[in-house]
Amino acid sequence: MRRPRAAPSEIPLRHVPERLANLNATCPRCAATVPFDLLEVLPEPKAPVKARSGEGHWVPQSRVLTCARCSADVTVEYPRVQLQTRCELYGDDAWRDDPQGARRVQTYALVGADHKVIGDVNEAVRSLKKELAPDRSPDEWSLHMKVLRSGQHRKKHPVFASWTRDKETEAIQGIAKVMRNAGRRLFVYCISRVAARSAAPVAKREAYLALVMYVIDDVTEGAAQPVLCFDSERQSTLERVVHEWASNVFRDTQYCDLFPFLSKGIVIPEPQFVKPASHPCLELADFVAYIVARYHLERWQGRPPTLDPSMMGRVTYLGFQRSGTLVYSIQEGFPWELLYGTGT
Ligand SMILES: [Zn+2]
Repeated sequence: MRRPRAAPSEIPLRHVPERLANLNATCPRCAATVPFDLLEVLPEPKAPVKARSGEGHWVPQSRVLTCARCSADVTVEYPRVQLQTRCELYGDDAWRDDPQGARRVQTYALVGADHKVIGDVNEAVRSLKKELAPDRSPDEWSLHMKVLRSGQHRKKHPVFASWTRDKETEAIQGIAKVMRNAGRRLFVYCISRVAARSAAPVAKREAYLALVMYVIDDVTEGAAQPVLCFDSERQSTLERVVHEWASNVFRDTQYCDLFPFLSKGIVIPEPQFVKPASHPCLELADFVAYIVARYHLERWQGRPPTLDPSMMGRVTYLGFQRSGTLVYSIQEGFPWELLYGTGT
């Protein structure tokens, strides 16, 4: 069953990957170029719909445009890839205000792997935690950077309270090593969005949406289904928490042709929000989001980074230039100049 169209999202899709920019169709009758706006809001969603039989999905195949010159139908086929595997990605976010309190950086990280190897990553995180706290089960406490690095919170933490600075450093180096050892099997994405503090709530959602859309495109390019799970940010007795804004943002993206171009015929489950730190990769995502947000703060303070993002190995960094253009770079170390030029 189709859900009714809601009011237009406050966070419209804006960013079209370069390979899809200036996409045109050609009229088969008169050869005119027919413009094709991937971001046009359509009356119907363009996501796969569950078949009535309960088995499989109806996947939108194409869109029919009308030639402005001769009124002929112009069919545009959506891209398709053959689904081969599933990729599980876990997300978390962080933010920091600049010393003047005028700007805020919001980061979101997604970390995960193919479902066939993600168990190895989980095990690596667990054995690190066992090394750090041998007399505790690794599942009963979490590596949470903000708590670990803040004197106040740390004192009250059952595991961190007894830790020295050296122990803290050992933990941080340990997480970074888990990430580097996983190498190319580990997928790590991080987006940062700097905005005036007054615009922070919208900037946060824009960052979330841009990251989710980029990851859908990237993962389906590898013939995998992306399964996204975010830290729900608040303690809850529920396994899953519904964030209405995130649901709305995700649903609204399906009302334009960009969605089938990014998802390529693969069914994309709605991102879920789960219990904080309930998966080892959520702890890695917390680490990545924290490091990148903190890196911004230290650049703003004119200090050398105490925790350089390069320690995490190769990361797909996404961010917004001052013009609002979304850019990305896959590299070790944060692409500050690409995003912000040579200034601070
Ligand atoms: Zn025509």
